[in-house]
Amino acid sequence: MTSVAAILPIDTEKIRLDFPILQTKVYGRPLVYFDNAATTQKPVQVLETLERYYTEYNSNVHRGVHLLSQQATEAYEESRRKITSLINARHDHEVIFTKGTTNSINLVASSFGKTFIGENDEVLISAMEHHSNIVPWQLICEQQKAQLKVIPINEKGELDMTAFERLLTPKVKIVAVTWVSNSLGTVNPVNDIIAKAHARGIPVLLDGAQAIQHMPVDVQALDVDFLAFSGHKMYGPTGIGILYGKEEWLNKMPPYEGGGDMIKQVTFARTTFNELPFKFEAGTPDISGAIALGAAADYIQKIGLENIQQAEAALINYAYERLAAIEGLRFIGDAAHRAGAISFLVKDIHPFDMGELLDKQSIAVRTGHHCTQPLMDIFGIPGTVRASFAFYNTKEEVDYLVAGINKAAQMLQ
Ligand code: PMP
Repeated sequence: MTSVAAILPIDTEKIRLDFPILQTKVYGRPLVYFDNAATTQKPVQVLETLERYYTEYNSNVHRGVHLLSQQATEAYEESRRKITSLINARHDHEVIFTKGTTNSINLVASSFGKTFIGENDEVLISAMEHHSNIVPWQLICEQQKAQLKVIPINEKGELDMTAFERLLTPKVKIVAVTWVSNSLGTVNPVNDIIAKAHARGIPVLLDGAQAIQHMPVDVQALDVDFLAFSGHKMYGPTGIGILYGKEEWLNKMPPYEGGGDMIKQVTFARTTFNELPFKFEAGTPDISGAIALGAAADYIQKIGLENIQQAEAALINYAYERLAAIEGLRFIGDAAHRAGAISFLVKDIHPFDMGELLDKQSIAVRTGHHCTQPLMDIFGIPGTVRASFAFYNTKEEVDYLVAGINKAAQMLQ
């Protein structure tokens, strides 16, 4: 077999030095971190950006005339421009800072929903959605007396595109699907989904929480209407995320939250609202988080998302082959096109037991339903063991995981 190191387009060993936590030990052994779909680790470039903000120019944005406030505002807006460039948005004001994917989807469900979803209308999601792309739509459907419809999947964990087309009726006001499944690792055919929805005049929201860190993203080429993602899954801090929305939609949508910054003028009788993007950024934002998210965007762009995609694909293929050879291991989800995560069960071992024994061997994986309970119900299982990969993971770590699983399985049988 070709050595992964020989074909990797990036220098993993050097890159790992950027991540202080990867140099640490748990239970006296080097940390092996395979829980990247839950959150990624942070490079020094992001950590230093956070510290620099708080030690050198901590101040509120868009308000003060003083120097520090101007510096903070400039850094905050510069970070917005970095995200615009990362996703190739047409305008900076189409990039809204939010708390994360969940917050971004709630914003669209509420604001778009109140305006464009009415009685007997439908919202179309898929069977592999994260709770964050189910519950906000359930809430708005209940409020507007609309219905939630679900695109089914096949046994490999791929979307049933024939059923999708059948479900795309004139009643559907928005399609909201995940780009990459956090539980199965399936990469959905988003170009096709968007083209088919647009052919019927229906806008599309993509949950990009598991896509943005794994592949190049171009919202103009995709022609997607809304894209939601989280900073902490793309090597940035927690508490910050992005909603990209096409200007024409965002302009037609009412504010989600009221407060400072999102207003033009307030009287007790009436308030007029600020222009984009500020209309959707009420209150003091997560300034340090936004600025550090810009540093994370710089970091992954410097490595190159094509390189990241290629390196991770090589590693995932290797992991898939090695895991497949484990006696009694079965994959949950076996999509042809995949990224990020591999889910599996070993014999009849409960995922929590496997997770605990791996933890004791200094291997961090996720176990459980991964916030996709309806998907677990479809597979008829309580949960899975999920190993999720980042470009800083190595072939040696995969070997260690495989040995760890074998050892755990022996102990548990
Ligand atoms: N959607 C998907 C596909 C996810 O993987 C996650 C995080 N696990 C979310 C949404 C929610 O992201 P956050 O908790 O950062 O808002």
